[in-house]
Amino acid sequence: MSLLTDLLNLNISDITEKVIAEYIWVGGSGMDVRSKARTLPGPVSDPSKLPKWNYDGSSTGQAPGEDSEVILYPQAIFRDPFRRGNNILVICDTYTPAGEPIPTNKRDKAAKIFSHPDVVAEEPWYGIEQEYTLLQKDVQWPIGWPLGGYPGPQGPYYCGAGADKAFGRDIVDSHYKACIYAGIDISGINGEVMPGQWEFQVGPTVGISAGDQLWAARYILERVTEIAGVVVSFDPKPIPGDWNGAGAHTNFSTKSMREDGGYEVIKKAIGKLGLRHKEHIAAYGEGNERRLTGRHETADIDTFVWGVANRGASIRVGRDTEKEAKGYFEDRRPASNMDPYVVTSMIAETTLLWKP
Ligand code: ADP
Ligand code: MN
Ligand code: MN
Ligand code: MN
Repeated sequence: MSLLTDLLNLNISDITEKVIAEYIWVGGSGMDVRSKARTLPGPVSDPSKLPKWNYDGSSTGQAPGEDSEVILYPQAIFRDPFRRGNNILVICDTYTPAGEPIPTNKRDKAAKIFSHPDVVAEEPWYGIEQEYTLLQKDVQWPIGWPLGGYPGPQGPYYCGAGADKAFGRDIVDSHYKACIYAGIDISGINGEVMPGQWEFQVGPTVGISAGDQLWAARYILERVTEIAGVVVSFDPKPIPGDWNGAGAHTNFSTKSMREDGGYEVIKKAIGKLGLRHKEHIAAYGEGNERRLTGRHETADIDTFVWGVANRGASIRVGRDTEKEAKGYFEDRRPASNMDPYVVTSMIAETTLLWKP
């Protein structure tokens, strides 16, 4: 008799051309990733060659029971690190049967902004730093923390090593390699200030692909933590009090910012972001007011400040960018539970298309 792992590792391409495609979409809460699988007759590498599909939107809070069908449009393909071989993960967005994007489809509007000629010409790059917290499954308390109690104060944990400082590294590293396997531009990982909290970065990635890749990386993290029996939380302030919150700093540059004279372009863009601070904050994640307090390396939610190397600012410009007078900047406001389609496209819209 075979062990389950032997069957899981069966290489179906030994006997068939057929492949398994896992269709992934964002559900009704805006943070739940849902997926289901189907068999395809052969390998596919272009999403437009994949069939549309549907699901029961009344079970995901996305459609009424009497007219429940939501249609999945395949948009981006990644290698499947769980099934391997020619099997794939497919990031989809969601439409009514009449072809209208449903309200929770944030990708459709973002894709329109990213296909605007003025945006395309500027080749917008994004580097998203996704912070998250690992929780013990049954008690929803960070891993490595004593049950019903607290670890020692913050200080030794950020980028720390050792059994009393780094909790969950196997999960973090499995996710890291799985993302590289999938074809995601994951650029690094690190332990965070609050014990049990970690970060991975996706980027630099161009345009709409940043959102597709971040959602694929979040999906893979849900699957890796599922295997480990640990819960991933994207809450921006999972533990109240003197514990760092979780953000999704969004690093951004355009072609003109990366070229000589770029610092002037960066300063103009930051000026525009300041004028639209309220609108951006409203779109940067639920519960962000619990995180953006002006303490724990954040700026107060009602204040827009930018600065060089200032981690208490809304927007930070790196020393290298200042020195070379070109480069990129970091929007530190987005919460860990932000929607990358919303945040990336809004930054492009405000800095490239909006004429104040
Ligand atoms: P921090 O110093 O704030 O912790 P990180 O190193 O965690 O920053 O993340 C920075 C991210 O920005 C990385 O994903 C990196 O690839 C990305 N990045 C680097 N250069 C650019 C650029 N010119 N435009 C946009 N993103 C960039
Ligand atoms: Mn970082
Ligand atoms: Mn961080
Ligand atoms: Mn950062």
